[in-house]
Amino acid sequence: MTHGELTGERLFTLPDRISGLGELAYNLWWSWHPEARMLFKQLNREAWRESVHNPVRMLREIPYRYLEAASKNPRYLREYDIIMARLGSYMRQSQGWFGEHYQKGPFNVAYFSAEYGLHHSLPFYAGGLGFLAGDHLKECSDLNVPVVGIGFMYSQGYLHQHIRVDGWQEEITLPTNRDLAPIKRVRDENGRHLIVKVPDIDPAIYVAVWRVDVGRVPLYLLDTDISKNDPKRRSISSHLYTGDREMRLLQQIVLGIGGRHVLRMLGINFSGIHLNEGHSAFALLELAREHVEEGIPVHEAFEKIRGLTIFTTHTPVPAGHDIYDPVLVERHLGHYIEALGITREEFLALGRHPVRSNEGFNMTALALRLSRFHNAVSRRHAGVTREMWRSCWPDRNDDEIPIDAITNGVHLPTWLNPRMEMLLNGYFTRICPHWQHEHDNREIWEVVDEIPDRELWELHMRLKIKLFNRIREYKRRKWAQGVEEPENLVAEGMLLNPSVLTIGFARRFSTYKRADLLLHDLSRLSSILNNPWYPVQIVFAGKAHPDDKEGKKILQRIYQLAEKPEIAGRIAVIENYGEQIAQYMVHGVDLWLNTPVPPMEASGTSGMKAAMNGVLHCSILDGWWCEGYNGRNGWVFGAGEIKGDRTVQDAEELYRLIESDIAPLYYTQSMDGIPHGWVAMMKESMKTIPPLFSARRMVKEYVHNYYPLMVACAEKNLCNIR
Ligand SMILES: *Cc1c(COP(=O)(O)O)cnc(C)c1O
Repeated sequence: MTHGELTGERLFTLPDRISGLGELAYNLWWSWHPEARMLFKQLNREAWRESVHNPVRMLREIPYRYLEAASKNPRYLREYDIIMARLGSYMRQSQGWFGEHYQKGPFNVAYFSAEYGLHHSLPFYAGGLGFLAGDHLKECSDLNVPVVGIGFMYSQGYLHQHIRVDGWQEEITLPTNRDLAPIKRVRDENGRHLIVKVPDIDPAIYVAVWRVDVGRVPLYLLDTDISKNDPKRRSISSHLYTGDREMRLLQQIVLGIGGRHVLRMLGINFSGIHLNEGHSAFALLELAREHVEEGIPVHEAFEKIRGLTIFTTHTPVPAGHDIYDPVLVERHLGHYIEALGITREEFLALGRHPVRSNEGFNMTALALRLSRFHNAVSRRHAGVTREMWRSCWPDRNDDEIPIDAITNGVHLPTWLNPRMEMLLNGYFTRICPHWQHEHDNREIWEVVDEIPDRELWELHMRLKIKLFNRIREYKRRKWAQGVEEPENLVAEGMLLNPSVLTIGFARRFSTYKRADLLLHDLSRLSSILNNPWYPVQIVFAGKAHPDDKEGKKILQRIYQLAEKPEIAGRIAVIENYGEQIAQYMVHGVDLWLNTPVPPMEASGTSGMKAAMNGVLHCSILDGWWCEGYNGRNGWVFGAGEIKGDRTVQDAEELYRLIESDIAPLYYTQSMDGIPHGWVAMMKESMKTIPPLFSARRMVKEYVHNYYPLMVACAEKNLCNIR
């Protein structure tokens, strides 16, 4: 066995004839191929549900007789053979889009991110940044772009949310069972779990290495929760975004320095680096340290590394930019600074804000300094970011500040409902048999016009009922366990009515996202919800960060309101928002609402997921919506420039919009019971949004704009990184 090789986990036994299910279960390819998921579901529905749609867990828990029965069922075997052949040819594909357009050569990009949203069985995400990273890897796999991911194996995942009857969020820690998750141990040459020491950090930190197969893309996860570490260091990788500054610094040391070192130990070469946010910027220092070790002067090393690095910044919100007390930095990186061969002063200067020099060690400043390519995640966000960081380039004009825009996109096969895909198939394949391969082509989506209104509307209603069933079934089970108060049932959606216009609001409960904007004027809200002709209901979901008291208060206020008889069961709050609930919601509500304080939402992505499923978007003019809105494919409010607190104006405008435009359009149905005006807007939205705001368009832009430049640097042998 060679260094870093994987071994079969042998955690379950399978009949020979269907032994490929093991390989399939450990490749997240199943998560964006519904027919592959069906292969598991067909083994046994109950076991599939009990596993919470996680094939690894299912194969471990399912009684053997079901597997045996499947291995003798000709129908099952036929499907099994088709899917396994499909997986095989997907994995073996040598060309793909990338191969057709670029020379593959030795080029490879190392992608660093503190979180990945891939599937709910891997709770290694907090929100949009993670889903962006997950969707990026999936799309790189589909396009055959050579990428390797680095991240954390969070042993406690992100918080599991329970909402008390008084509306207060409680965090429950549910340890991630590593043996039930679709992750594999990476082994060393002796067959033991590979453990790597983070270089030059004192006291020492060790990380164990795991691997997730995201289609063709390998993602390596670092885990400090091993007996070789002392208790404090063990818990470095236990939670996402811990509030403890020192722990957080240690996390970022492990992610960057440890992450780079793990790739080196695995013998994985790369010629480009992509930092998804500044959390992992220490990786660049580790590359510099290696160069210094080889005798290259440190500033020359920095110059080389710059040419290979793209840094994507994701937020203008201050809490999204880590700043560390220099005392902490020196405490943990003292040895490391010596190894780099620079003075403490020189080191601290790398993370100094160009103007606010006393603030501390700023990870965004570090990332900007050590990378040549920088991008923001929407056009508007690029403008805001240039403004924030213009002082880094004091002698340049505004339009010369080197921060570009690549607007976020979402992985279509992950977020498009399988039934919706089937509906589209019936029409799209007529003009383009393999339309899935070019779903970023706008012309294909013009065919949406050919779908009869009735077909689209009936499917939409079906997905809506599916969401309501999910809500009710979950509550019913809780009720049966005797752990629920009647108020919980009401506040969490038992009284929702599928024939009522349903607004969805689901995202992290950060204050800037203003989940409570609609609560600004309660009597107005109540009259909108209880309008006898045009009733409205709202489904909320989202977690507040454990340390965010204000976020929790907003959630509590909404929850307590939902319990009130005056609201008549027309507001619901769904517990424990995550990937699975997001799927139900972006498929099944009528309208997706987005209300952040501009310009704080750098991009936003959930509205894109909704749009591809025919859910209309109503958003303040911010982030991606500045590019997505065309006057006919959704609604916009809050476009005006307002200085200071804008709650009153924004809320008023939103109330007006719902009362006079949105609700009347929804309820204007003809004799056939179909709201043709609404469906026309659904079609306009589906024609204009999914192709443009797909991860496919986004990844292609990253590749077109940056990868050739990095390759050029690498080829000139300027900046070869081992
Ligand atoms: C897409 C997604 C997000 C990000 O949504 P935003 O609109 O960017 O806030 C957060 N959480 C989950 C579970 C998601 O699926």
